[in-house]
Amino acid sequence: MHAMDYEDSFVKIAGLIGGEEYVKVSRALLNTEDVTDEEIASATGLKINIVRKVLYDLFGKALITGIRVKDEKKGWFVYRWRAKQDHVDNFIENQKKKILDRLHKRLEHEDSTEFYHCGNHDCPRVKFDTAVELFFKCPNCKGPLNMVDNSKVKEALRYKIDQITTDIINSKANAAANKEAAEAAAAAEEEEEEGEEEEAGEKAAKGKKSSKKPSSSSSKAKAPANSSKKAAAAAPKPKKKK
Ligand SMILES: [Zn+2]
Repeated sequence: MHAMDYEDSFVKIAGLIGGEEYVKVSRALLNTEDVTDEEIASATGLKINIVRKVLYDLFGKALITGIRVKDEKKGWFVYRWRAKQDHVDNFIENQKKKILDRLHKRLEHEDSTEFYHCGNHDCPRVKFDTAVELFFKCPNCKGPLNMVDNSKVKEALRYKIDQITTDIINSKANAAANKEAAEAAAAAEEEEEEGEEEEAGEKAAKGKKSSKKPSSSSSKAKAPANSSKKAAAAAPKPKKKK
């Protein structure tokens, strides 16, 4: 179940970066761990140079790792690629921060500048200094320039900034809860290995709990800090793919 959640976000991100080819390559990466470019090419039907281009891009974005291993049949070294599960959230986070930064700069610009406009959709807005130089006549249609009320634009920018900021805070809380859940699950597993005298009933109860759907790490899911204990109880044990 956890693997499905992961597949969704990894493949989705790859698709957002580069479209259909990236989706195919990222699915192949998830289907086979430590896969080579040639194996991806034959699994997806994509040309090898396309596969390599996608792999290098994903590697550059730290979404996959590569290890150099000797191909025993061919006798030379090849790279085996693996999706980096734990970097997907970071990547999304960084993108959000970039957008937030751009919005802040845009708002600053709107806040600090007085714009003038003739009201004609095809004409540009001009700054105060330029408007003075033009004697408040539009450079395009020569119509009179009036001060622009940009409060709606600023309001929209502030709204978007608020939205993304809240989103980042929520996903941080989520990540913390998930980390705590993973640690709790790992600790529980260790305990289980040590304590062989555990009651059968307890084991059954634990098994039931661990079959619950794990809380999604998507930005939609709200995870206030005080729910992290609950999340820990419901979280599945981390499974290693072979
Ligand atoms: Zn004009």
